[in-house]
Amino acid sequence: MSALSDKIKSDLIKLSKSNGHLQSIIKRLESGNANLSDVDDFAQATGAVLKKVFEKSISESPKAFTDEQLIAEILGDIFGDNYELINSVAENIQKQLDKAAGIGIKPQRADFPSERIENLAKVTAQKDLTDKTSLSEFTASVENINGSIFTDYVKTNADFRSKAGLKVYVIRSDHSKCCAWCSKLAGKYVYPDVPKDVWRRHKRCTCEITYVNEKAGTYDQI
Ligand SMILES: [Zn+2]
Ligand SMILES: [Zn+2]
Repeated sequence: MSALSDKIKSDLIKLSKSNGHLQSIIKRLESGNANLSDVDDFAQATGAVLKKVFEKSISESPKAFTDEQLIAEILGDIFGDNYELINSVAENIQKQLDKAAGIGIKPQRADFPSERIENLAKVTAQKDLTDKTSLSEFTASVENINGSIFTDYVKTNADFRSKAGLKVYVIRSDHSKCCAWCSKLAGKYVYPDVPKDVWRRHKRCTCEITYVNEKAGTYDQI
């Protein structure tokens, strides 16, 4: 692991601890009453902290961010950690929800987004990150990949649980008024009858994408 990766990781820990918004989400996650919306909040908040950490690191060592291999290594390290973190938080909350609902299905992991990370490293190495617009595009991509780690979890598990016989509802909310494209996609859908773009997040998308599930027939019997 590179010295720069280490530095970024230690900055990330420091900034995460001092970030009030992230800490309040962590409290909610630890309350015993959290749901997958809170995990989506967590993924977005950790992405926002990551953005700040990269802005700091790039202003301190702009040259390092012109080397494709080094960028790929740093992104691989950082996202490796966040992939573990976001998935383990999601699995934890999922198990609590399942226990309460009497469901015994193991949470599944989506693949690590290696290709997206390699592509971002390739594109970034061609750009001058001391330029404000390029920097903003880079950090938006970082946040996008981070948020998508949870969206990939949702997609994988919605599919798995539906196939296992649960009734699964996919919920996409644009409560913070993302954009016209997202507002058309917003809604509650019975999986697998979902719009094909329901899992897609454009850069800077602030939508929340989650699911809820229940044992099939739970309400049919009432
Ligand atoms: Zn949007
Ligand atoms: Zn959106």
